[in-house]
Amino acid sequence: MRTDGAQRLFEHAGLDFQDLKMQSQKRGFQAVPMGLEAQLKVKSKVEPTQYSNNVLAILPGEGKSNEAVMISAHWDHVGMIETDQAKEIFNGAMDNAAGVAGVLELARVLKAQGKAFKRSIIFANFTAEESGLLGAMYLVQYLPALGVDISAVLNIEGLNVIEAVDTIYDYGPGGLEDYIQDAVDAQGRVIKPEPMPQDGKKFRSDHLAFGLKGIPWLLFWWLDEPDYVANRYHQTTDIYNPNWSMQGAAQALQLISHIAETISNS
Ligand SMILES: [Zn+2]
Repeated sequence: MRTDGAQRLFEHAGLDFQDLKMQSQKRGFQAVPMGLEAQLKVKSKVEPTQYSNNVLAILPGEGKSNEAVMISAHWDHVGMIETDQAKEIFNGAMDNAAGVAGVLELARVLKAQGKAFKRSIIFANFTAEESGLLGAMYLVQYLPALGVDISAVLNIEGLNVIEAVDTIYDYGPGGLEDYIQDAVDAQGRVIKPEPMPQDGKKFRSDHLAFGLKGIPWLLFWWLDEPDYVANRYHQTTDIYNPNWSMQGAAQALQLISHIAETISNS
């Protein structure tokens, strides 16, 4: 309610809005009954204006095929901008075409290896993450209909497209700390606490939709490089650069593949 509306309401009840507002800021304030009744009628109409799809694939497990490890990224970004001069597209090369490419590459490699996995592996590219994790929330809602229990979610937000690094940041806890520790040890790397926990990244991507249902998760976030944050994040300048070496991406995908395989067979 707007302040002028509240003032009229208090007046109607024979009360002084300003006076009570002051009193309510003091310790020990007791609520005052207003003695008013209201009858409201609200007419609302929901009109779906856009449709979009999550894109999923499954590599069926052998033994525990109705349980699955999910590797995910989001394929949407923030659309287009139209100025007087031109129409520009937000390509989102790092956020999150890099992640989508990672999911596709892991699907290709894990399938091509021809290994048997105990639990199934689901490869998910979600829609409408930027609009509030809508694609992931939708899938969570319909999980019972899929007949598959998700054991873990490994969610990718950007990949390190340049050289390999010896550290990885911990954005958890999501309940899979032992698995990432083992995989990181195997690569001879170290885990460090995330540099800016005040950004609340653990609440800002699709894994959260699953985390809220008690499903353990890991977040692989690579959108923190200062130059990227200042000049490309959610800007039309987030575009592909042919000079990227991709060594860091290969390293990250090997790590994720290792974790997916371990959880699948555990
Ligand atoms: Zn993103």
